[in-house]
Parts: sequence; C-alpha cells; structure tokens
Amino acid sequence: MFSLEGKVAIVTGGNGGIGLGMARGLAGAGARVVVAGRNREKSAAARKELGAGALAIAVDVTDEASVAALLRQTIEQCGRLDILVNNAGMNIRKPPHEVSLAEWRQVIDTNLTSAYLCSHAAYPEMKKAGAGKIVNIGSMLSIFGAGFAPAYAASKGGIVQFTKACASAWAKDNIQVNAILPGWIDTDLTRRAREEVAGLHENVLRRTPAGRWGTTDDFHGIAVFLASAASDFITGAAITVDGGYSIQA
Ligand code: NDP
Repeated sequence: MFSLEGKVAIVTGGNGGIGLGMARGLAGAGARVVVAGRNREKSAAARKELGAGALAIAVDVTDEASVAALLRQTIEQCGRLDILVNNAGMNIRKPPHEVSLAEWRQVIDTNLTSAYLCSHAAYPEMKKAGAGKIVNIGSMLSIFGAGFAPAYAASKGGIVQFTKACASAWAKDNIQVNAILPGWIDTDLTRRAREEVAGLHENVLRRTPAGRWGTTDDFHGIAVFLASAASDFITGAAITVDGGYSIQA
C-alpha cells in the first residue's frame, strides 16, 4: 500500500530542508525522484544522496517556460510523472506597510503561483496516466496571521484554497491533491528567522506540545502517505505536521 516502486516524483525545492526530507521518504519507498531547484550544487548533492535513479533538473518555479522545461525533461528522461510536490518557498519578514510591490510579488510568485504553474503543467501527464498525487506545502500561516509576514501568510492561505480547488476539479481524473502544513521545522529558512526574530526559539519550544522543533525526517512518512495508494480516498485535506503547535492556545 505504501510502495512507490515504478513511480516518478518531482519535488520542487527538493535539494534542501523539508523538500529533501520528503524526497528521502519518497526515494526510500521506491520512487524515482526529480530534485527541482535553482542551486545546481545543492541539487547535485541531493541527487547523489537519493541514489542511482534520482535526477536533478534546474528550475525557477516562478517562470512558466522554466517549469515547462522541467516537465518536458522529466517525461523525456523518466517517461512518466506520478507525484508532484510543490514545496519551493521563501519568506520576506516585514510588516505590511513596509512590503514593496516587488517583494509582495516575489513571495506570492515563489510560494503560490509556482504551485499553479507546476500543477497546471503536470495535469495533462497525470490525466494521461489515469492517476496522480499532488502535495502542496502550506504553513502554520495557512491558519494563523502574523504581522511580520503578510505576503507569506497570503500565499500559504492561498495554497490551502488552491489545493481544495484542484482536488475538486481533478477527482474525476483520479488525481488526489492535498496540503501539508508544517509547524516550526529546523531548516535554513527558520535558522534565518531565529536570527531575525528575538525570542523565537524559546516561543516555539514553549508553544509546541511535543516540546521540540520539527526535523526534516519528520516529513518522510507524510510524503509517502500522501504519494501512495494509502491515501487514495483523501483529497483536498490540509494536514498539520507540527508537534501539536496548532491545537494549543
Ligand atoms: P529552505 O529554504 O531550506 O528550502 C526552500 C527551497 O525552495 C530550497 O530548496 C530552494 O531551492 C527552493 N526554492 C526557492 N525559490 C525557488 C525558485 N524560485 N525556484 C526553484 N526552487 C526554489 O526552506 P524549508 O525547507 O524550510 O521550506 C520548504 C517549504 O516549507 C517552503 O514552502 C516553506 O514555506 C515551507 N515551510 C517551512 C517551515 C519551516 O519551519 N521550515 C514551516 C512551514 C512551511 P534553491 O536553493 O535551489 O533555490
């Protein structure tokens, strides 16, 4: 039920952090993983770690032509696409009145428009194959507000609604679309946040019932579950992987 033997998965931002954690889970379950990021060195290292079948393809997920090339190369080299993980993301930490239009667009394009571009490009392949799994990465800011991250919160709220829209539209094609909402996970992204936001580390420990930061290993299982036959009747869901952060006031 959890086997991904013979399946091909694209993971955007699969060269580090949560994306690499999910890529490790998918590869461990037998999938051939395409690591799709901008940084070629990081992607090459991830590909090497993920084993013989893995590929690294450079992409800028904000660019339609670059995403089209990613899909084209994946099909040329792997012959199919079964799983798409829309994980690439970034943040600019500023209050709303300090965010420029260029910064707003950069965050929305990287976190939300990217999911549209990749899903839109993947759909014909999945429809042709008669099945597909799309996993979008949201955030605690898909649920909560935060004065320091307005564009990020808008993008991650949007991810949940986009997930539901695609899940509704593509259920008839046997394509399941779900979202993962990570809590506070120890990655490059949050290492920067810890430097920029005073008291963040202590607040995360105090507020998270599990009493620790998440690790990238915490994403192996959920990635395999949402990419495998085990989740065939689950679509449009937003599943928290947060050590209980979101259930405690
Ligand atoms: P990282 O900074 O470690 O990873 C971000 C990834 O996105 C990198 O691999 C990067 O690849 C890729 N990326 C960014 N912009 C682009 C682009 N334009 N084109 C292609 N790839 C791009 O952060 P995390 O692992 O923490 O974040 C992964 C996802 O998880 C994000 O969507 C983030 O919002 C979300 N998240 C993270 C949380 C956390 O606590 N860490 C909490 C909630 C959500 P490259 O370097 O090659 O550009």
